Amino acid sequence: MTRWRYAAATDTGLVRDLNEDAIFVNDYLAVVADGMGGHAAGEVASAMAVDLLVSEFVHRPTVEGLQRAIESANEVIIADARDTPEHFGMGTTIIAVGLTEDAHGVTSPTLFNVGDSRAYQLRDGALRQLSEDHSVAEEWVRMGRLTPEEAAVHPRRHQLTRTLGVEETVEVDVMSVIASPGDRVLLCSDGLSNELSPETIAQLASAPVPLEEAVTALVDAARSAGGRDNISAVLLEFEDVTNANPPIKRTVSTSRPPAAPTANPARHARRGRRFTWRVVAAMTVILIVIGAAIYVVHWYAYSTYYLAEDTGVIAVYQGQPNGVLWFHPRKVTDTPFHVSQLRPLDRQALLATIAEPTLASALHYASYLHDAWQLTRPVTTTTTSVPSSSTTVRSPTTTLKGAG
Ligand code: MG
Repeated sequence: MTRWRYAAATDTGLVRDLNEDAIFVNDYLAVVADGMGGHAAGEVASAMAVDLLVSEFVHRPTVEGLQRAIESANEVIIADARDTPEHFGMGTTIIAVGLTEDAHGVTSPTLFNVGDSRAYQLRDGALRQLSEDHSVAEEWVRMGRLTPEEAAVHPRRHQLTRTLGVEETVEVDVMSVIASPGDRVLLCSDGLSNELSPETIAQLASAPVPLEEAVTALVDAARSAGGRDNISAVLLEFEDVTNANPPIKRTVSTSRPPAAPTANPARHARRGRRFTWRVVAAMTVILIVIGAAIYVVHWYAYSTYYLAEDTGVIAVYQGQPNGVLWFHPRKVTDTPFHVSQLRPLDRQALLATIAEPTLASALHYASYLHDAWQLTRPVTTTTTSVPSSSTTVRSPTTTLKGAG
């Protein structure tokens, strides 16, 4: 059984013309929403969010119920901003504590937060911030890029990273509030937390005075400190608390799960056809690449000719002497020239094969080798009987002398 007492106050402040904050509190739910957006749209967004949480929580007072209510608020604000031009750009923070029921009907306090409105817990005069601000500067503090002191004056401390009404998907921090009887919880907009130091908030919020006086003191102090923004405070004091067991602390995304793949047979069928065409296209490309590779290798393998011995004669082969992959050289023709009719060095060269770019040049070179051998082979002496009177021995020297 959890019960609380409560008091709340909201104020336009000293600078703004309108109060765009919205608050609500009863025996089961406490909410602060800080609206933003020009042309009074901020108060529309914050009011929409509070109204939706209140109405939904009545029907479904559970953690999931409040998560769903925040999701609904986000959708409704986005739809309204789309349909109403003067509401374009509106949004709101939301911070809420609800007494949520578990599966056994036991109620315990649960905190929900989107944006930079804050929740503090007060015990024995000490103050602890329960919520994390979803602002650029505070995110950087959590990442270690800024100190809390630097964040407090950083120009991007007001730039929010999460709000309702901006994106279809919103992430909500959800955590159990672990409290004891006598503990107080303060929900407030940044118009209060920006104007007052944590020490002042702790002192005023935990003062041993009726809750109404405490919230009035808080709002008055924020006005006195400048009142540059709308100021809202909801103060709870637990009379009795049952804490959640186990406690929860998580960030939930309100994005809807994707539809099951078999939910739409037509879509499924389209996917099947697309898959088949993709496979056919991919296989065609692969086959073209393989075919081109085979063509290139084949061209290279048979792009040359060479001379080599085959059964005692010079033969002309087409291809690479050692073959390329499975393309082995093939014999084109035998020449009429015997290997024995080659000069010794040419014979050795033939053993190592002699490459030629074309068949004609290969045949021509074989003929050349044979001719070269013929020119250098020893002269065969034959004896012929001729009449002695006609015998003329013409040595070159003799010829030259005779001529001279
Ligand atoms: Mg504000």
